[in-house]
Amino acid sequence: MKKLIIIGSGLGGLSTALRLSKNRDYEITILEKYKTPGGRMNIIEQDGFRFDMGPSFMSMTYELDDLFKSAGAENPLQLDELDPIYQVFFEGKEKPRKIWKDLEKIEKEFADIEPDLSRKLDEYLSRAGEFFHDTEDKVVKSNYTGMLNYLAKLSRVPLKHIPYLVKTMWDQVNKTFDSEEVKIIFSLVAFFLGSTPFKTPAIYSLLNYTEMRYNGYWAIKGGMYKVIEEIVKILESRGVKFVFNTEIVGVSNSNGKLNELVDSNGGKWQADIFVSNSDAAAFRGQVLNREKFSEDKLDKMHWTLAPFTIYLGVKGKINNLIHHNYFLGSNFKDYADTIFTSSISPQKPYYYVNATSKSGDEFAPEGCENLFILCPVPDMRFKEDWSDKEELADNIIDDFSKRVNFDVKSNILTKKILAPDDWASMLNLYKGSGLGLAHDLNQVGAFRPKNKDEEFPNLYYVGASTTPGTGLPMVIISSKLVTERITNDFGTIS
Ligand SMILES: Cc1cc2nc3c(=O)[nH]c(=O)nc-3n(C[C@H](O)[C@H](O)[C@H](O)COP(=O)(O)OP(=O)(O)OC[C@H]3O[C@@H](n4cnc5c(N)ncnc54)[C@H](O)[C@@H]3O)c2cc1C
Repeated sequence: MKKLIIIGSGLGGLSTALRLSKNRDYEITILEKYKTPGGRMNIIEQDGFRFDMGPSFMSMTYELDDLFKSAGAENPLQLDELDPIYQVFFEGKEKPRKIWKDLEKIEKEFADIEPDLSRKLDEYLSRAGEFFHDTEDKVVKSNYTGMLNYLAKLSRVPLKHIPYLVKTMWDQVNKTFDSEEVKIIFSLVAFFLGSTPFKTPAIYSLLNYTEMRYNGYWAIKGGMYKVIEEIVKILESRGVKFVFNTEIVGVSNSNGKLNELVDSNGGKWQADIFVSNSDAAAFRGQVLNREKFSEDKLDKMHWTLAPFTIYLGVKGKINNLIHHNYFLGSNFKDYADTIFTSSISPQKPYYYVNATSKSGDEFAPEGCENLFILCPVPDMRFKEDWSDKEELADNIIDDFSKRVNFDVKSNILTKKILAPDDWASMLNLYKGSGLGLAHDLNQVGAFRPKNKDEEFPNLYYVGASTTPGTGLPMVIISSKLVTERITNDFGTIS
């Protein structure tokens, strides 16, 4: 039986282990720097409250079904579809706008500012849907042997989609809708890709299609971390070994192959096959010392936004919150243009609030809310010092209190703050970038760090910064692609 080591227990590493453990073809060990499995999809339990640490939106849930099925396991998760999907609070307006999947409901919601919305939205989503289905199998869920092979696959995508490549998401919403609010709302998905609608290609309006028509957003019973707990349970039953608090910092090789990893305590780990779930670009630079991924070169790449996250256990119920809530200011373009490269904390931050206590009782004591607040901020290339984290958190909490008309500060029962420097040091996120490498056209497909190493034939990569990209569904697809590579090279999974 071949020995296989996975470096990192994020969703990418765990999903790969799940697929590869199906027939017990490999003896699998997972080495993890952090104290618990899950990577960014982790858990914080504090003073009777339970918070999902990172991801809170679950979309394209059929990828989860496919993961369990192709790994020979039943999907143990229970999911409930959210409708409204989310709501958006605009500065100076008391009533939030609810985003419904149902076209009739959304038409009514915006009747005062965007007449004929259901027709416009139907056209917009149908167009995005065509692009999604024309590229999903041909390009996104596909391994490439090299650049020519990638270009050959791209050439099979109908030419009518070319305008999507040259336009930005903002161009697309701007030409479709009349009201500024509606334009902003449908361009928010660009932030899920860790960028802004003014920089993100229009092709990513396919995310509007997956959220509003194809699949929707779902709450997972028990919270997002349930996904990790269930996968780990299956892996343990299949004999997969976990080693926590172990960071890989170097390698040794012989005969052109990778044969050993070295951890930060000098421990050595040998195997026949290695999969890195550590960032595919940063690992090549920081652990393998590859010149193409030196700090200088990594810094020049386009990285996604950094997260500034606050976890609050609050006494009392905040009535006007739902599961997903956005709080936006009144200077969208200026904010988007400056936020990612600013060297100071945002003075009037935009943020997102998730309250899983709105969808289940298991997250907070009775009569309380568990609030997860996420504010996109510059990464550590631009702002290295986050000693002002308390100040920024207070600023956000004050603004939030006013906007939901609830005195949050006096009712805080527990609080935790994670700034980009915390995210970087806990999970090796490059300079605190939350979603890894961005999705500019020169950083996707064959231009993204590959899932098979350039030099070592027995080293592979899975996760957000390799193909196809970031976000939970993409990372699950990434595990499928790397499993295909490994089984092609070393043996099949029947
Ligand atoms: C705040 C936040 C909110 C998000 N919200 C959403 C959302 O709502 N929906 C969505 O789809 N996506 C969301 N994302 C993105 C999503 O979390 C990621 O795309 C996904 O979880 C990445 O998984 P991964 O397996 O690639 O990497 P990770 O989860 O980062 O896992 C990598 C693991 O490798 C370990 N590791 C790294 N280097 C080493 C080393 N040298 N030695 C040993 N171990 C190492 C790390 O500790 C980590 O556990 C969010 C991300 C953040 C940060």
